[in-house]
Amino acid sequence: MTKQIAILGSTGSIGKNALRVIDSLGPEYKIAALSAHSSVELLAEQARKCKPEFVAITNSDCAGQLRELLDDLDIEILAGPDGLIKIAELQQVDIVLTAVVGAAGLHSVLAASSKGKRLAIANKEPLVIAGELLKKETKENGSVIIPVDSEHSAVFQAMQSGRKEQVNKIILTASGGPFRQATAEDIQNVTLEQALAHPVWDMGPKITIDSATMMNKAFEIIEARWLFDIPVEKIEVLIHPESIIHSIVEFVDGSMIAQLGEPDMCLPIQYALTYPERVAGIAKTLRLEDIGTLNFEKPDLQTFRALTLGYEVARTGGTAPVVFNAANEAAVEEFLAGRIKFVNIVEIIENCLNRHSVKPTICLEDVLEADAWARREVTELAYSV
Ligand code: NDP
Ligand code: MG
Repeated sequence: MTKQIAILGSTGSIGKNALRVIDSLGPEYKIAALSAHSSVELLAEQARKCKPEFVAITNSDCAGQLRELLDDLDIEILAGPDGLIKIAELQQVDIVLTAVVGAAGLHSVLAASSKGKRLAIANKEPLVIAGELLKKETKENGSVIIPVDSEHSAVFQAMQSGRKEQVNKIILTASGGPFRQATAEDIQNVTLEQALAHPVWDMGPKITIDSATMMNKAFEIIEARWLFDIPVEKIEVLIHPESIIHSIVEFVDGSMIAQLGEPDMCLPIQYALTYPERVAGIAKTLRLEDIGTLNFEKPDLQTFRALTLGYEVARTGGTAPVVFNAANEAAVEEFLAGRIKFVNIVEIIENCLNRHSVKPTICLEDVLEADAWARREVTELAYSV
């Protein structure tokens, strides 16, 4: 039976890889809807190629140009953030691949789960800030979440070797980013260009900076906590510069089950779409003899304070992860715009967390309120660094 897919964020790094994967999977997988924020020309080009029924452009100012570009095609164009929700809820859609960046994807992820869709989740920020709400929504509506994030895809695959109660720990691997061997002193004056030069993965700018600060790994601890319903105490981070082992699950008998592959997002994207099936794909296969050696080291918690904060925030819960994420999004924006230094990102996040009074249990309104509060705080904090 044909599977209809909506890609939320088709013009980004994950979105573009997803289109290549779907193209290679053949006619069984059909694209029903695409979305972008403001990359009008690329979205129009993708729509011309895939002929979806719907395209959503979340930045309404770009809708006119998109309409002109797609004038000759029978495609419905939806403008503004509500368009993203609409395509996530489409009745004919079976799988929603969430590849929007940031908390901006929250409403559409919740919408897709409320309609019982399969969620192939790349967009990790909604899980970080509203993991509990999202899990509740999926449970109530028969929606299934399959992780796309490479570490969580690895854990998801390894988990099939045992039961949740038999898990000793989850070991999330991390490349260590561009500053893996740097000291706290070294990172004082790194440039934007250095921070954007990830040694292994080719990703969008926001997650690339998150990898350099290791905020990305901090988010992944919280992401794993919700995806696998495992206490934070059982989640460890291990630096593995080659990024060949994508993560490991250790079971009570001492068996460690790992998933290996080339660092290529096409593989976890494909698995999230075809699960429980496995089919030949476009991801390069791994030749261990070419790799030779795999290295592992403990993370440097002195240089990468983000990791320590991540554990604290994960344990605190409530609105703490919301502030953690929103402060990061706003601080990364400031850094990308050249207004603050690299080291200021995590300093600002920590300041913001210190100023926040955590609400222990949260509803959607609390999430939105804490998110907006943190972004305002960062604007103020960024002026004073
Ligand atoms: P990109 O920045 O490359 O792409 C982001 C996508 O989201 C684009 O389609 C963009 O549209 C769209 N977008 C941006 N802002 C908004 C908004 N306000 N509302 C709606 N859509 C918006 O990001 P990545 O593909 O790198 O990452 C996407 C998500 O996947 C992130 O959450 C990231 O953490 C996660 N992830 C990514 C990995 C990777 O390898 N890239 C690996 C694991 C997880 P436009 O082009 O118009 O700006
Ligand atoms: Mg990852």
